[in-house]
Amino acid sequence: MSDGKLAVIGLGSIGSMALWQASRLTDSVVGFEAKVPAHGRSAVGGDTRLFRMLHLNPAFDPLLKRSQRLWAELEQESGQDILLRCGGLYIGTDKGPYISQLRESAQATGVVHEFLSRGEMAERYPQHNLREDDVAVFDPAGGALRTDRAVTAAVAAAQANGATVLTNTPVDDIRETADGVVVTSGDRSWTFENVIVASGGWSRKLLPEALQAHTQPNRVFLTWFVAKDPVLFSPERFPIFVRLSGERSMYGAPAVDGVTVKATLNFRPKPTERADAVPRELTAEEIAETTETVSEFFPGLYPNIVRSDAFPDLFTTDRNPLLGRLGAGSRIYTATGFSGGGFKTATGYGEIAALEALGKETFEDVDFLRPQRFTA
Ligand SMILES: Cc1cc2nc3c(=O)[nH]c(=O)nc-3n(C[C@H](O)[C@H](O)[C@H](O)COP(=O)(O)OP(=O)(O)OC[C@H]3O[C@@H](n4cnc5c(N)ncnc54)[C@H](O)[C@@H]3O)c2cc1C
Repeated sequence: MSDGKLAVIGLGSIGSMALWQASRLTDSVVGFEAKVPAHGRSAVGGDTRLFRMLHLNPAFDPLLKRSQRLWAELEQESGQDILLRCGGLYIGTDKGPYISQLRESAQATGVVHEFLSRGEMAERYPQHNLREDDVAVFDPAGGALRTDRAVTAAVAAAQANGATVLTNTPVDDIRETADGVVVTSGDRSWTFENVIVASGGWSRKLLPEALQAHTQPNRVFLTWFVAKDPVLFSPERFPIFVRLSGERSMYGAPAVDGVTVKATLNFRPKPTERADAVPRELTAEEIAETTETVSEFFPGLYPNIVRSDAFPDLFTTDRNPLLGRLGAGSRIYTATGFSGGGFKTATGYGEIAALEALGKETFEDVDFLRPQRFTA
């Protein structure tokens, strides 16, 4: 006897979206969450995530387009503003690899964008203290995603469609048998036709050894600063940004609370043994580099860190996710390993996972994300 067509294990960033999408296809889907959806110690924590249409890797373009459409659908279905459409700025050294790769990617994909010379940038966005050779690319469709709103909206929409949600139910084990996949939590067990593993930094224990060897939870931290003139850093005036200027780099988002600006050193993941035990305190080196970078980049921010935190994400050795069945005919589907970059496309990953786990086709070429690249 089956307990349902599909189980989704983990209702965080991607699992919540997979549950929502699966609930559009079947009323026989159950979501398991160790704590509660959008809890603050998961990769949902920290208020916002950057959304962009212009990606360094053009292979992500179809996924970004799908995700953009689905973010709008989630907003419509929930009646909530989830994506703050403030635009995106990518700043870097003129003729350096960052800006030239972005422009090449834009040419390959046709993503609408605007090149800004140093002078245009200084005039339009005086918040950024530019170096002599800095220029920028503007992505008008970029923005900031409200993470906790997004996840709770997706779970609520799934429940409205008939999905079952089991909170405070950590899954200890999944086992494939001739009848389906047996899911165990404590002394309870269920059997499902298919299972999606979407347990983020905690996924490793549910993955086969071959994939465990290619994955590692990492700690990613965030820092916030108070704006001297909050209007200048409001979403209307201050797009999300990623800046790689010489030896310094930073990314961030406007003051969504009206005062505090997210500005964080770009991509500093640190391997950690357990997703549950991510050190939340910043090291003296992290504080020093962050403070120096903000002092140089943003004269309009007080350079003291007023808030900081750190969260887990599962990284793969090639920093691309694991999206697909464990093997041909397997009933276990992985949607994990988003390696510090999965939120912007959470809706797209969720839809692909739900469709494929329920035996339906998707049209994007996501072969480069298949787990078989590590197990074949
Ligand atoms: C600080 C930080 C900044 C980032 N910035 C960006 C950004 O700007 N743009 C971007 O696109 N991406 C960004 N990312 C990446 C993105 O946030 C993650 O890739 C994505 O959120 C990962 O989602 P997930 O569903 O895999 O994990 P999570 O969102 O952590 O969800 C996993 C869920 O599974 C549950 N769970 C775990 N184990 C079990 C179990 N055994 N049984 C039941 N439930 C379980 C957990 O409680 C949790 O709720 C950032 C990540 C971090 C950490």
